[in-house]
Amino acid sequence: MCVSLQKITMSVKNHYMSLPKGTYCQVTYVWISEDKESLRSKTKTLCKEPAGIKDIPEWFAVSTNITELTLVPVKMFRDPFSLDPNKLVLCEVLDYKQVPAETTLRSKCVEVMEKVEKFEPWFGMEQEYFLLDLDRKPYDWPPGWSCCVGSEIIHGRDVATCHNLACLYAGIKICGYNPEAITSQWEFQIGPCLGIEMGDHLWMARYILHRVCEEFKVIATLDVQPVSGHLCPSGGHVNFSTKEMRSEGGLQYIEEAIKKLSRRHSHHLSVYDPHGGADNIRRLNSQTITSSFKEFSSAVAARDVSVRIPGQVFRSGHGYFEDRRPAANCDPYSVMIAMIETCLLGAAD
Ligand code: ADP
Ligand code: MN
Ligand code: MN
Ligand code: MN
Ligand code: MN
Repeated sequence: MCVSLQKITMSVKNHYMSLPKGTYCQVTYVWISEDKESLRSKTKTLCKEPAGIKDIPEWFAVSTNITELTLVPVKMFRDPFSLDPNKLVLCEVLDYKQVPAETTLRSKCVEVMEKVEKFEPWFGMEQEYFLLDLDRKPYDWPPGWSCCVGSEIIHGRDVATCHNLACLYAGIKICGYNPEAITSQWEFQIGPCLGIEMGDHLWMARYILHRVCEEFKVIATLDVQPVSGHLCPSGGHVNFSTKEMRSEGGLQYIEEAIKKLSRRHSHHLSVYDPHGGADNIRRLNSQTITSSFKEFSSAVAARDVSVRIPGQVFRSGHGYFEDRRPAANCDPYSVMIAMIETCLLGAAD
């Protein structure tokens, strides 16, 4: 869009945004679509602000195969786009038989978390993504490198900054962001979160990212390798700890968990991207600074391994560890289920 038209659009929008507000409240229902990757949303007007999630009614949507879906509100955030008192609400999806839709793993994840409550599991996820122009070319290339500054190499900082501010307003536990390994690749981090909260906050942070990108007329893609041949695939590292791991002498429990993970490498890779491992086959290859798709590895303070113990955790003898295998487009609920089943519930295969 040309600059003058963009200015007109902004001032027109400002007019509507500044109209006097009644007592009504707009609630945007957000849910994960059947591909387990993209998000959908629609907005309902309530006559007053809901005090909590219980005040937000169920709603309906249609699936791609035309059957009816029920949207069950599970987590409420402030709406950083239309501001207070409006809400963004993450929803669980029930199919037409009123059971959790096959494609959504949240309810299974809640069940798993209930079994391990006493371990107080914390998760933190790093979300890498690429910004693309509307023609799906990397936003403002040519490339530059990791955590750098300067306008020739950094592209999209406004998007990343606005996303961070919008998440903070919404109440998302976003703990940081940085330019990633190559120009137009960025990362933000969520956490630490207790149990299911991780998935809820990451999915809503992704939704907010796509909305911010709409305003900047760019595309955020979580595809692991959106530009063929480039060497910086996008990942979704998951950081994990239990109460024992965080306490004095916790390293012993971290090492135990890593040993269990080493025995279920292929299972984890089959659920660490939404295509049964196919995305990670593209990502975890020898051309990049990543670990091997075929073999499990772990080390202190290393980046080319499946699982890393951060140097500071090793030195202090307690803390958390990082599983670097999840792909950027992973479903966090799927990743968390596998982590808990393997590390805390004795799953083996
Ligand atoms: P990296 O060094 O791998 O780039 P980041 O700083 O990007 O690490 O991300 C670290 C992540 O670890 C954050 O999401 C943070 O919330 C999470 N984290 C920190 N402490 C813990 C903990 N004790 N348990 C689980 N996750 C944690
Ligand atoms: Mn990081
Ligand atoms: Mn990173
Ligand atoms: Mn990276
Ligand atoms: Mn990391």
